[in-house]
Amino acid sequence: MPELPEVETVRLALVPAMEGRWIGAAHVGRPDLRWPLPDNLAARLTGRMVGPLARRGKFLLVSLDGDETMLMHLGMSGSVRIHHQRPAIGKHDHMVLEMQGAASPCWVVFNDPRRFGWIDLFSEDIHPMLADMGPEPLGNEFSAATLTARLAARRGPIKTALLDQRLVAGIGNIYACEALFGAGISPRRRGYTIRRQRADRLAAAIRDVLTRAIEDGGTSLRDHVQPGGEIGYFVQRLSVYGRAGESCRACGTTIRSLVQSGRSSFYCPDCQR
Ligand SMILES: [Zn+2]
Repeated sequence: MPELPEVETVRLALVPAMEGRWIGAAHVGRPDLRWPLPDNLAARLTGRMVGPLARRGKFLLVSLDGDETMLMHLGMSGSVRIHHQRPAIGKHDHMVLEMQGAASPCWVVFNDPRRFGWIDLFSEDIHPMLADMGPEPLGNEFSAATLTARLAARRGPIKTALLDQRLVAGIGNIYACEALFGAGISPRRRGYTIRRQRADRLAAAIRDVLTRAIEDGGTSLRDHVQPGGEIGYFVQRLSVYGRAGESCRACGTTIRSLVQSGRSSFYCPDCQR
């Protein structure tokens, strides 16, 4: 499932393909993904100039002329491909944008087999889905102090709190597990008990795992610039996620998993307290 680093990797790949160009043609294959798509989406996108591409949490924001913004979410299984020749449109290619305005056109394809992704258009200052979102973990607003303040009322486990986009933006199951390992904090620990040194370690670990994953994404982008490469999925250097039954890389103890709020948590019972 794409989290902040994967979405940031998609954004970086789309900048040269979309920014400063215009949408010469648009194909939208169905009226809905997770939720209904805007009426006449293909017609409304055709002919639009594309301005800066931004990211907020796991959402991509594509600014269009006419003070409108296209919001994109990759959901569970969404990915983006960039083609330099007109692609055949596959069953799960729900949106295809032909980008004009550079020496040669290119095609941006949004593919999502499970259809938990979403595309919307909005002209308000902020989309309702983004209104309650917490700080960007790689931005200046995020610190151990803000984390402590936001966790003060959380009686539930820290792992579940980290998945709440109102606490901090962009973190999903993989990087929540990895950050807690990096900070030496048990996924079971109650949120409000994360203070002082633990909060310092957790804020630093969150920034560290996300920064390293964005670097891995950049590496994967250089490795698959050829057409057909799905952007948004790359091999991550994971310490605990998906490694139940294997040895902790730090201490050799067997990695365990448990289910919290319906999601699997992976942790080292020795390194994380
Ligand atoms: Zn360990």
